[in-house]
Amino acid sequence: MRRNLIAGNWKMNKTAAEGVALARELKDKLSGQCCCCNGPQVLVCPPFTTAAAVAAELKDSCILVGAQNIHWADNGAFTGELSGAMLKDLPVGWVIIGHSERRQYFGETDETVNKRTKAALKHGLHPIVCIGELLAEREANQTNAVLEKQVRGALAGFTVAEMATVVVAYEPVWAIGTGKVASNEQAQEAHAFIRSLLVTLFGTDVAGATRILYGGSMNAQNAAGLLAQPDIDGGLIGGAALKAADFATIVAAAK
Ligand code: PEP
Repeated sequence: MRRNLIAGNWKMNKTAAEGVALARELKDKLSGQCCCCNGPQVLVCPPFTTAAAVAAELKDSCILVGAQNIHWADNGAFTGELSGAMLKDLPVGWVIIGHSERRQYFGETDETVNKRTKAALKHGLHPIVCIGELLAEREANQTNAVLEKQVRGALAGFTVAEMATVVVAYEPVWAIGTGKVASNEQAQEAHAFIRSLLVTLFGTDVAGATRILYGGSMNAQNAAGLLAQPDIDGGLIGGAALKAADFATIVAAAK
């Protein structure tokens, strides 16, 4: 039985003070929902500069805190990057890796996603590895080929034991921040395909236990339908994660 994970990607939004206010509102709205016991796990991923203040605000709550990127090296001449040890300092326990905006604007490749994911595991962080096809790729019937390349590339060299902490997020690029959500059927089909790849690569136990999140314009209205799909184990949420009421509704839909 896979426990749902509802993760908010705040992207480049919220100063520390704004982030604390959002975290406080969220904590209040979720206080009756017991996300630390039998409800879904709840995670927020603020910008690096906001994460420490948010982590302090959420210290005694069951809401987890993550980052949006990690470098593969432990230290060195990598201007603008943060290492796993630095993320642990914030402190955060989770990290989003290979988001399509990183791939699109910052040259992230399957190879760098693989290196960053390895670094996350080395530092005891839970990686959320993002994959997903472009609209042109879907229209050219290349969705499965793209997903296979990304899964094989991102997870190359991982052991069955390492896979225990890896979460995969299927995020069709055409659905991110566009308001154009994948239909329940499109999303389920892609998730089932990703799970079948995990069977091939790591066996049925790993594939059965690995959580695969859906991301792409998930909101308070469409979450229940998506989360009801058998291979969808939660959501990675951008825009709707910036509104406490909407995010709390998505968490409630994941119960
Ligand atoms: C995301 O950034 O991962 C995302 C899914 O964004 P949105 O929910 O805004 O489409």
